[in-house]
Amino acid sequence: MNTNNAKQHHSIPYIWLGVFAHPDDETSASAGTMVKWIAENNEAYVITATGGELGTLGTGDLVIQRENLASVRESELRNNLALYGCHSPFLLRYRDQELAIESTDILSAKVLNVIKKVQPHVIVTFGPSGISNHTDHIAIHHATKQAYEEYKSKSGKKSPILIYPSLSEETAKQYSLNLSSAEKRMDIVIDINSSINVKIEGLRNYKSQEDAQEFAKRLNDLKNDRNTNIESFSVSSSTPNDWQNYPVVDYLQNL
Ligand SMILES: [Zn+2]
Repeated sequence: MNTNNAKQHHSIPYIWLGVFAHPDDETSASAGTMVKWIAENNEAYVITATGGELGTLGTGDLVIQRENLASVRESELRNNLALYGCHSPFLLRYRDQELAIESTDILSAKVLNVIKKVQPHVIVTFGPSGISNHTDHIAIHHATKQAYEEYKSKSGKKSPILIYPSLSEETAKQYSLNLSSAEKRMDIVIDINSSINVKIEGLRNYKSQEDAQEFAKRLNDLKNDRNTNIESFSVSSSTPNDWQNYPVVDYLQNL
């Protein structure tokens, strides 16, 4: 559903910044959207806070030693971002499950540095429950929200929007996810029928990770039902109230 109207207002490349905890979070949450975004000559960046050291040690025939897992996951991440056309990731080099014990101020300062560098129009991070209630996801939510608020207070009118991956009430129930109300609002829904295959490929490329393989299988089983091929986001209450008037919101809603 593209309108020429939205495209005409799009004179500069828009910048997308995903801020996530583990290699593969960015793909599960937003690969389909990033692929479409980049195909229209916009740019996308991803911050990945940890090496995912505590993840599973391979799927199928692949068996990885625990001490090698972070480097395997880093190369899976790099290859996938290249596949999508994203820039190389900003790696914060924490260890898995370390984010919850890091001070929010310090983590937030690291995120803010990247925000200042790339000057995004859209920042996407986990909402308050982190979708899965993983402590790293929740910590990156708080740190990114804080970084966003600080950046916004200094950038005035040019502030980006902050959005969270969201799921319908029905989907949340189906997977027994205990989501915050902010993660059940579908303010921005992206039709990813044209990019679903790349998203599935990206998930399959995370060969180290069982969750990614299961999610790939689920998406692949459902993909002929065109209505299910979506990614949705809610706009954070930290975003200025007039977010509906932001050209980038119009652009996303018509992507
Ligand atoms: Zn994760």
